[in-house]
Amino acid sequence: MRVVMRHISDEDLELYCLGRATNEQLAPLEEHLLACPACLERVQRMLREIDTLREALRRSEEDEKRRR
Ligand SMILES: [Zn+2]
Repeated sequence: MRVVMRHISDEDLELYCLGRATNEQLAPLEEHLLACPACLERVQRMLREIDTLREALRRSEEDEKRRR
């Protein structure tokens, strides 16, 4: 069994979660995620954080509109 030992850096994780990774970066990241539950967990956590952040931004925009 081939194990990809190097964990994904926070930077790459962020790119991946934001959908900003290039195809070239994406392939090794996804390969690693398939082999590494720990990094998969980090991705899921970050995606949740991004969701929460977007939701908060959306709400504050709506509040902004209501105030006008
Ligand atoms: Zn990993």
